Amino acid sequence: MPRPYLALVTHGAGDLRIEERVLPEPAAHEAVVAVGYGGICGSDLHYVSHGAVGESVLRGPMVLGHEVSGHVEVPAADGSGPARGTPVTVHPATPCGTCPQCAAGRRNLCPTAGYLGSAARFPHTDGAFAQRHVVAAERLLPLPAGLPVRTGALAEPASVAWHAVSRAGDVTGRRVFVAGAGPIGALVVAVLHRAGADEIVVSDLHERPLRIARELGATETRTAADLEGRVDEVGADIAIDSSGTAPGMATAVRALRRGGHLVLLGLPPRAEQPFLAGLVVTRELTVAGSLRFDTELADVVAALADGSLRADPVISHEFPLADAETAFALARDSAASGKVLLTF
Ligand SMILES: [Zn+2]
Ligand SMILES: [Zn+2]
Repeated sequence: MPRPYLALVTHGAGDLRIEERVLPEPAAHEAVVAVGYGGICGSDLHYVSHGAVGESVLRGPMVLGHEVSGHVEVPAADGSGPARGTPVTVHPATPCGTCPQCAAGRRNLCPTAGYLGSAARFPHTDGAFAQRHVVAAERLLPLPAGLPVRTGALAEPASVAWHAVSRAGDVTGRRVFVAGAGPIGALVVAVLHRAGADEIVVSDLHERPLRIARELGATETRTAADLEGRVDEVGADIAIDSSGTAPGMATAVRALRRGGHLVLLGLPPRAEQPFLAGLVVTRELTVAGSLRFDTELADVVAALADGSLRADPVISHEFPLADAETAFALARDSAASGKVLLTF
């Protein structure tokens, strides 16, 4: 019997709609999740503002959202996956499992993987900003008792941060610089703090995100204006750029000592970006990219549940689905908001 529900759909730049959808009949291995919370991500904002994220261009309507948590409403008929009523978060990726990258254990690099709410492929992969979401039960991660479902919506972005920190090597006792203190940058700070980084220096354009970064373990925070002309004095062992902007990346490179390690996490908007390649040579820097995550989601859920990883301070606002326009406008204003959640 068809059951209607509401979903948040973009039809292209500047076009955000709440639409009624009909729940498809789940396959035997699929469960129905009653979505509780969804975090608005930079990619959701880009689809709505520009109709594209990097090379992924909208060619038709798409349900947004990949940072969600909720409860199992209908468990998978084949008995796999969590039982009815279990609080869960959803792994957004569907790697193929058989290509060389998947075989090598780097499933986040699978070239044919789908991702919730992504226009990388056509037909697009609908996201989970919806009252109901049908998904393979194996992609559900139960949230341990005591971990609020609301916090569970942060598991996805925290996993992105967790993976980026793992790309930096051992951070124990290190002096680390983080460029950009938006939700991802702030979560990078939280993961660094948990991993035993000694000093965590953070820069951002605005004061408010820096305040959140301090709450999550930053030992020193600077506005970009404050750091102007003095970046080379930072002398970090490791720098992580979460800004994805040319000035942010330049700051991250300059903040490194000779022999330092750079991780690029923020996704620059265009194919060609100015980059201080000369300093990579003369300081003999090691450069690593960081894309999404794989099994880190389970580590993050465990760390959030045992309290060793704090993430809640990144949440700044919460709106019902009906106020999605307001929520998106606020999420776009990085001086005024951190992670903005939708409730379904
Ligand atoms: Zn995200
Ligand atoms: Zn693969």
